[in-house]
Amino acid sequence: MDCPKCAFEDTKVISTSSSTIKERTRKCPVCGYVFATVELPKVDTYLEDYARELLKGDKKLIEAIGGKQKDRERGIL
Ligand SMILES: [Zn+2]
Repeated sequence: MDCPKCAFEDTKVISTSSSTIKERTRKCPVCGYVFATVELPKVDTYLEDYARELLKGDKKLIEAIGGKQKDRERGIL
């Protein structure tokens, strides 16, 4: 993570909170700037599409998206 103040590329993690959402406190070794970064899970867009098509009731689209999801789970995509 680059320092937002001086753009130095190798800031150090000085503490991490442990929960589903990880918050890291970082410090820049060059200018001494301390800042926090947040890591959160990204919503799976395939599942969003699947849910949307389920609501529309389009069976062909539901099967196509479901197949993509299965390929993804098997590591093909
Ligand atoms: Zn810096």
